[in-house]
Amino acid sequence: MVVIAAIAADLGSQLLASSSSTAATPVDVPRGEHRGVRSERRAAPDSAVPDGTTVFDDRIPGVANLDPTLLGALRRAAADAADDGVEFYVDSGWRSPEYQEQLLHEAVSKYGSAEEAARWVATPSTSAHVSGDAVDIGPSAATAWLSEHGAEYGLCQIYSNEPWHYELRPEATVHGCPPTYADPTHDPRMQQ
Ligand SMILES: [Zn+2]
Repeated sequence: MVVIAAIAADLGSQLLASSSSTAATPVDVPRGEHRGVRSERRAAPDSAVPDGTTVFDDRIPGVANLDPTLLGALRRAAADAADDGVEFYVDSGWRSPEYQEQLLHEAVSKYGSAEEAARWVATPSTSAHVSGDAVDIGPSAATAWLSEHGAEYGLCQIYSNEPWHYELRPEATVHGCPPTYADPTHDPRMQQ
């Protein structure tokens, strides 16, 4: 929290003015936005996945460092989705703590406050991406397929505001996915 406060104090004053109009565009996923951000980076972190990455790309650290059980479920789902003519792409998978910190810093800049940024981007210590337990899937045809079939594989949407963000909930294969949180600030795991 000290880091967030420092970032907020640093950036808050000049950026607050732009915060209200950007709330609908998440930092977490849209490829176009990521691409734009990437091109301005001094050095792209190795956990930022290249465009066109699939759940089968073992050489991409963002994929290879995912929890093996999550990755197995994703691959089974992706194979079955392919039979339905739907392709899965990984927009973001495992992230290094440094990359997560960078995303958080960018989110504070974009949303104008640490509080608003927290609705979209977790800290390195709380992010399920950093622990390898979350994946952001695209495009919308893939997330539509997952919202219908994901529970059969234990793959669940966790946050209402992030239809692309999936985590493994093994019990979902029996009971279905648990209710979603409105956004990450409602997730008890984020209260640290
Ligand atoms: Zn995510």
